Amino acid sequence: MNDHADAALQINRRFTLQRRPNGLPVAEDFALLTAPLPSLQPGQLLVRNVCASLDPAIRGWLDDLPSYLPPVALGDAVRATTVGRVLASRNPEFAVGQWVLGLNAIEDVSLVSPGGFTMAIDADAVPSVTNYLSVLGAVGLTAYFGLLEVGKPSAGDTVLVSGAAGAVGSLVGQIAKIKGCRTIGIAGGADKCRRLLRDYGYDVAVDYRGKSVDELAAAIAAAAPDGVDVVFENVGGVVLDATLRNLKRGARIALCGLISEYNSTSGRIGARNIWELIVKSATISGFLISDFLPRFGEGALEMASWLAQGKLRADEHIDDGIENALPAFLRLFEGSNQGKMMLRIAQ
Ligand code: NDP
Repeated sequence: MNDHADAALQINRRFTLQRRPNGLPVAEDFALLTAPLPSLQPGQLLVRNVCASLDPAIRGWLDDLPSYLPPVALGDAVRATTVGRVLASRNPEFAVGQWVLGLNAIEDVSLVSPGGFTMAIDADAVPSVTNYLSVLGAVGLTAYFGLLEVGKPSAGDTVLVSGAAGAVGSLVGQIAKIKGCRTIGIAGGADKCRRLLRDYGYDVAVDYRGKSVDELAAAIAAAAPDGVDVVFENVGGVVLDATLRNLKRGARIALCGLISEYNSTSGRIGARNIWELIVKSATISGFLISDFLPRFGEGALEMASWLAQGKLRADEHIDDGIENALPAFLRLFEGSNQGKMMLRIAQ
């Protein structure tokens, strides 16, 4: 066994789930607890988490409901994808100091057993190692495969993106432009709408805040008088209902997320205007980024090449300190994140 690389680190701070949230998570749902570092069995490693990805999906993992991953157990550290360095290893494939990407938790140190999702990454090959949690990780690939394989845009198509200034949405808009599409972004507030035009190259920005379905549908109609060919849906609710009223015949909706209902206290909200799918012979297809796992290499290569050519802007919003895990996570639901939301746990 290799020695611990960071001998000073003996106590593990863990952001644990104590109670299942009812609606928007509150401080009482969590506790920052400490525990001794776990000891290693053969094949296992300890990862010193440097940065955790704060994803809207985490909200779903806090509920005790069937989903694509089991719920976070009460008392466990909150699950998150992290980048970090191997602190100790009894696995010949991982040396101490090696950078890794894995599905771990919001804690100083994660115990990793063989068979889970953990891979070695090259921190020197990218502008910042955090890019593995944003443009070159699941977020970037969600934008890439969700738009190109589910939305299937052609050059000249009008592509509408909700959550357009966010981590996934900002990349979707830029990829659609690379593919020669006209892009309409929907986001909350004047500042975000300015960023859609200035930073992410959207042709039109639509502010959804304070608008009814009718008002938002009218704003989309003004931006796309002939309707939209492709929708990349991150939000649901009012935004999806208004969008459904502006489809072109044969439109494709890539259903990526429904963030407006993740904190609903009255169950799923759903869509009211699905009649429009019949009228417009349109399709709506949900997808999970894991559906494209076998093709991750191909997608990451093209995203990396666009990034290197300066064709993609990839904003990251990194808050510091494990003690700030909850306010940092809540930014996703307030809309105060300016780019891919992450939490720095160690330097
Ligand atoms: P973002 O960086 O887009 O952050 C979330 C944004 O959502 C906020 O900034 C806010 O922007 C917007 N938002 C929050 N609450 C609401 C609301 N009630 N109504 C409208 N907009 C709201 O997060 P991500 O890019 O990480 O995730 C975007 C979506 O993609 C999520 O729905 C997520 O679940 C989904 N996703 C799906 C994956 C898949 O495999 N299918 C994989 C990864 C992500 P604003 O200020 O504009 O309101």
